[in-house]
Amino acid sequence: MSIAQNLQCITAQLPQGVRLVAVSKFHPVDKVMEAYNAGQRIFGENRAQELAAKAPQMPTDIEWHFIGHLQKNKVRMIMPWASTIQSIDSIQLLQLVNKEAARIDHHVNVLLQLHVAKEQTKSGFSIDEVLKAAEEGAFNNLSNVTICGVMAMATFTDDMNQVASEFELVHNTFLSLRDKHFAGNPAFKEISMGMSDDWPVAVKHGATLVRIGTDIFGAREY
Ligand SMILES: *Cc1c(COP(=O)(O)O)cnc(C)c1O
Repeated sequence: MSIAQNLQCITAQLPQGVRLVAVSKFHPVDKVMEAYNAGQRIFGENRAQELAAKAPQMPTDIEWHFIGHLQKNKVRMIMPWASTIQSIDSIQLLQLVNKEAARIDHHVNVLLQLHVAKEQTKSGFSIDEVLKAAEEGAFNNLSNVTICGVMAMATFTDDMNQVASEFELVHNTFLSLRDKHFAGNPAFKEISMGMSDDWPVAVKHGATLVRIGTDIFGAREY
C-alpha cells in the first residue's frame, strides 16, 4: 500500500480527538512529502540533526514533534523547529529548554516523558520522580514552555497485557498530575503513547497522540 493509503487506513481507525504523529525518522524528504501531500501535518523526529536538516526543506505549516532522547547540547539546534518536545526526561532539561526558548523569543510545548517500560535503556521520569517534582513546584513558573501532558513508550514485548498495564499506569499518572498539579490548566491534556505495534491498545487506554512510523512509511533502513 502507498503512504497515502497507510495514512488513510490508520486515521480512519482513530477515534475523534486522537491525533496522529507520523514518525518520519530515517525516511527521506520525498517520502515525508508524500505523507504531507496526503494531508498529514504532524511529524515526529528523534534525532536533532535530522530534524534540523529536514524541517527547512519542508512546508512551514508542519508541526514538528521531537520524540527522541534530547542531549542538552542539542537543545539549541532543534529549538527553531520543534513545536512540541515530547521527550522531557529531567528537570534540568526542562529548565534548559525554557531558557533556550526564551533566548530566541520562542514558545514551545512539551510533554513529560514517563518511564514505565521494563527496559532500562528507555529514558523518562519514574512515576515517583514526576509526582515529587510536581509537589516541589518544578513545573511552575516556566515563561516560554507549556507543559501539555505526558509521553511514554511501553516495553517491547508481545505480551499485550503487560503493554496494557503500562499504558494504564501512564493514564493514571496523567490523571493525578492533572487533578493535583495542573488543575484549571486546560493545556495539560495530552497523553502520547502507542506506536505501530501497540497503538490500538494505547488508544483504548486514553492516548490522545499516537506516534506511528513503520505502519506509514515501511521499515526503516538504519
Ligand atoms: C521510532 C519511534 C516511534 C515509531 O515507531 P514505529 O514502531 O515505527 O511506529 C514512536 N515513538 C518513538 C519515541 C520512537 O522513537
